[in-house]
Amino acid sequence: MNIIDSEIFFDSITGKLSGNKIIKSSKTIGDLKNIFKDEKERSAMNQKQFVYRVEFYPSEKSGTCGGLFFGTSYIEPGKVGDEYFMTKGHFHADRDTAEFYWCIKGKGVLLLMDEDCNCRAEYLKPGSLHYINKRMAHRVCNIGEETLVFSACWPSNAGHDYNSILEKGFSARVMCINDEPELIKKD
Ligand code: ZN
Repeated sequence: MNIIDSEIFFDSITGKLSGNKIIKSSKTIGDLKNIFKDEKERSAMNQKQFVYRVEFYPSEKSGTCGGLFFGTSYIEPGKVGDEYFMTKGHFHADRDTAEFYWCIKGKGVLLLMDEDCNCRAEYLKPGSLHYINKRMAHRVCNIGEETLVFSACWPSNAGHDYNSILEKGFSARVMCINDEPELIKKD
């Protein structure tokens, strides 16, 4: 009987995934319309500027019950006006699915919101582990000066509901006030 190598490798120092099957995607300033508070500022910025990218191991067909997915996200440092670069954020399409995030490198804030629009936030720092309960929307902001790297593991039937966030947004924003991150309730 043969003992074989895994088809995927995960570098625990950099977060990098490698292997033939890894799928990569990225978002630029131009892809993030109506996400930031200052849309006028965003539209005046270089639309090709990278904000974040994701590497993802498609271990199952999307939608498969009982499977897990694994990925690493990289968010660049930067701001749109006084608001930190961040991910679009999502609920899971299947609301009854949770997720783990853990921080590898950099400084960030995980913004969480329940279905009644109550927000709370947790700091991401190297080694911090975050359990995202089912039915919670989640978004990550880079509050540091280097690339923020975190990995995630989530059920393969979770799916992504971005539209609910595009329609209503999160009820709070992570803003840079006097050089410090603050969680500010939306007016
Ligand atoms: Zn998720």
